[in-house]
Amino acid sequence: MVDQSYGAPPAICPQCGNSAEVRTVSELFDMLNAMQANARQQAAPQSAPQGGWNSGPDPDYYQPDNQFANLVVGMAARAIGKRWLRSSNKRIESAVQAQAQEAQQAQDDQIAIVERYPDLRGCLRDFVLFLPGGTSAVPISDLRMPVTLAQADALMARLRAP
Ligand SMILES: [Zn+2]
Repeated sequence: MVDQSYGAPPAICPQCGNSAEVRTVSELFDMLNAMQANARQQAAPQSAPQGGWNSGPDPDYYQPDNQFANLVVGMAARAIGKRWLRSSNKRIESAVQAQAQEAQQAQDDQIAIVERYPDLRGCLRDFVLFLPGGTSAVPISDLRMPVTLAQADALMARLRAP
């Protein structure tokens, strides 16, 4: 009955009374990170190669086609297009930078949460978080992504409340 694989008995989910779908907080973060990486890959534009953000969007893609270039407004449109492309590149760059900072911060928070609350468990059957031996459970959907240390503190206060 006692599973000693992590030197601790398996945590029983207070919601379903089962330990089969219970994961540690670091396992939950691993899953979350994998899902997010997956979503980011799917959201990335097809024309942007991995790590190729600095070179900007494929210029061929933004070239007006020949028919359009023959129009009188073609020149003006190209000039506007280039200006738009330049400012758009800057926007993309700062967005990527902000995203990288956010991702780094989220990772630091995850490590801090795992270190501070190694007992925290989640049940994938009910999508709740709980403490082993406790009676209360908090829905995972109550958390906002990315999960911050402050959020984890508030969550633990809810779980520890009598
Ligand atoms: Zn459960």
